[in-house]
Amino acid sequence: MISVVGFPRIGENRELKKWVEAYLDKKLTKEDLIQNSKALKKNHWQFQKDYGVDLIPSNDFSFYDTFLDHAVLVNAIPEEYKSTGLDELDTYFALAKGYQDEKHDLKALPMKKWFFTNYHYIVPEITRNTEFKLSSTKPFDEFEEALSIGIKTKPVILGALTFLKLSKKTDVDIYDKTCWEKLLPVYIQIFEKFKELGAEFIQIDEPILVTDLNGADIELFINFYSALLTHKGSLKIILQTYFGDVRDIYEKLFSLDFDGLGLDFVDGIYNLELIRKFGYPEGKLLIAGVVNGRNVFKNNYKESLEILNTLSNYVEKKNIIISTSCSLLFVPYSLKFETQLDNSKKKYLAFAEEKLKELNELNMLFNDENYAQNTLYIQNIQLFEELKANKFSDINTIVNNLTSDDFERKPSFEERIKLQKDALSLPNLPTTTIGSFPQTQDVRKARSEFKNGKITFEEYDKFIKQKIENVIKLQEEIGLDVLVHGEYERNDMVEFFGENLEGFIITKNGWVQSYGTRCVKPPIIFSDIKRKRPITVEYIKYAQSLTKKPVKGILTGPVTILNWSFVREDIPLKDVAFQLALAIKEEVLDLEKEGIKIIQIDEAALIEKLPLRKAYHKDYLDWAIKAFRLTCSKVKPETQVHTHMCYSNFDDLLDEIAKMDVDVITFEAAKSDFTLLDSIKKSNLKSEVGPGVFDVHSPRIVSKEEMKQLILKMIEKIGVERLWVNPDCGLKTRKENEAIPTLQNMVLAAWEIRNNL
Ligand code: GLN
Ligand code: ZN
Repeated sequence: MISVVGFPRIGENRELKKWVEAYLDKKLTKEDLIQNSKALKKNHWQFQKDYGVDLIPSNDFSFYDTFLDHAVLVNAIPEEYKSTGLDELDTYFALAKGYQDEKHDLKALPMKKWFFTNYHYIVPEITRNTEFKLSSTKPFDEFEEALSIGIKTKPVILGALTFLKLSKKTDVDIYDKTCWEKLLPVYIQIFEKFKELGAEFIQIDEPILVTDLNGADIELFINFYSALLTHKGSLKIILQTYFGDVRDIYEKLFSLDFDGLGLDFVDGIYNLELIRKFGYPEGKLLIAGVVNGRNVFKNNYKESLEILNTLSNYVEKKNIIISTSCSLLFVPYSLKFETQLDNSKKKYLAFAEEKLKELNELNMLFNDENYAQNTLYIQNIQLFEELKANKFSDINTIVNNLTSDDFERKPSFEERIKLQKDALSLPNLPTTTIGSFPQTQDVRKARSEFKNGKITFEEYDKFIKQKIENVIKLQEEIGLDVLVHGEYERNDMVEFFGENLEGFIITKNGWVQSYGTRCVKPPIIFSDIKRKRPITVEYIKYAQSLTKKPVKGILTGPVTILNWSFVREDIPLKDVAFQLALAIKEEVLDLEKEGIKIIQIDEAALIEKLPLRKAYHKDYLDWAIKAFRLTCSKVKPETQVHTHMCYSNFDDLLDEIAKMDVDVITFEAAKSDFTLLDSIKKSNLKSEVGPGVFDVHSPRIVSKEEMKQLILKMIEKIGVERLWVNPDCGLKTRKENEAIPTLQNMVLAAWEIRNNL
């Protein structure tokens, strides 16, 4: 049998994104949005069925985010969103995107990265007053929609422990029986409802089990599921985990009445050790995740079959279900659109569609006693032999020749910052942005026309320079202190560098959902990375030539390029990171040579890929931070190095981040409480800091007063000397009429405080 943990929901051409955006822009009716989506879901189910998938997921669809869907399902939504008079769907979008009218001014709920992926989930809040109750019919509707075309799906439901742990808790203790006992009846009702509808399998997702668990987590899990599973009746319940191994709870799962366990053997190969050591409970299904749901390279059949064969020593073969390691949400839809891609590269790749085929082939081989003679198997072995020959050159020689000097910026931060203050003469509370300005329709049009050969490079170049001129003028009018060139030439902060460095494969349609309606097209790192020529220098230099104020040169850092690309699985990430670092370093030095005084090396994703278990943090951070330091160790002391990090959840990591030895760091903070500022104060971090004062992910216009209060609070926490004032991320996804008023208010807020200091 074959199982899929989840399927990409955006559609092969990002249809869903386009419909939702059109609906929010009032260009598509609600009925059309719903009807179109129903058709899309049916397509996806049928598609999987045609590929022979036995356990086809449903409820993995979402208009915005499945975590938010779950919060709505169990009624974990704040009261103020319910009293808007909006209907169910619009309330949902209000939670996701914020809502403003004459009477209401509701913020969007915050987002966080989903484990170590670049997918963001919406973080609901659980309070003492949250009244858990079944409040949506979405999972049941979808089950019936599929049933209407003759497909009995396996509904996917977010598990209670993952839900409780990843939600924000204000005044509740999730470990207290009174909290989880209120949630239990909702899950029981879900079971009841599915029994009525005739469901057979239910998949309960508990990825939190692959993180470090404490005794209370384990107790909560066992108590909750012991109680819930007595209600399962005829349903077969699969406990699905992914992104790692379940070492903290494995043996304890045996006594619970799950019908099957979904284990990841890609990111969680240690699961195999657990099975070797503790065996496997008799009669239970094992959903064996051997096809990587997070990467785009072909499956190595030899390795997968070795795992499956080992498993069959402990689990009856008929109980082993071959599966993706996690949802396929994290890979693009199909290779069939990559018509421009040379077969010499394409043959190593597998997107979602091709992975369905792989599941099928693996299933066939696994059930064939003579699979070693099977052509599919032999061809796959050959392919991996060839890939091995297509190895990265040995960068160890370069890396081994690096000395500690290559990682060390001199003189110390304290001395540098003085020189920089003199060189830049910035006021207190300097105002800036993170880099990108709204990528308006005209920008996207010009880019696509240039790519399709409809306009020449000269025309495109002229257009970009005009945009730069406008944005410099705009920033001067607003009164910002440190300007940027707007990043109009970049489709995406990682893909752009991928396109301009050697060693990458760029796809035409390799979109994956990042959050809500936002998709990214990660480049694929395939061979040695080299910088062919300067990448950003010309436009940044041009921007600087237009103004007396400093223009900050924006680059993407090596770890972020690495983390937001698909990277070959047979090469150590660390080696790739150092290659990238050496390329970015050349760019940094070129910018400096051209008179750029502030250089921002974005490491938006450095924290995101932190291993899920604490025990592995150090190893990762050691090389990741070294790679960053390599990019800027040779700049002059008076050149100011900034970095930007998305995601504010790094309270415990500040002493590590301090090791980046960066002059200024900007980060997301608008949506979080102020614990990070307290932690900064207590940590070794010396850098100046710019905690974002507004949330760029929401169209909401933020008032001067609101930001003023925020800045005053920040000053109270960490003082005025080291504080910068900026948004919490790039403005790329905002519209101009949303971003500009808020930026104006931001600058006015900083000025008013500055004048009263
Ligand atoms: N410099 C980038 C921008 O402004 C940073 C984006 C990000 O952190 N994700 O768009
Ligand atoms: Zn950011």
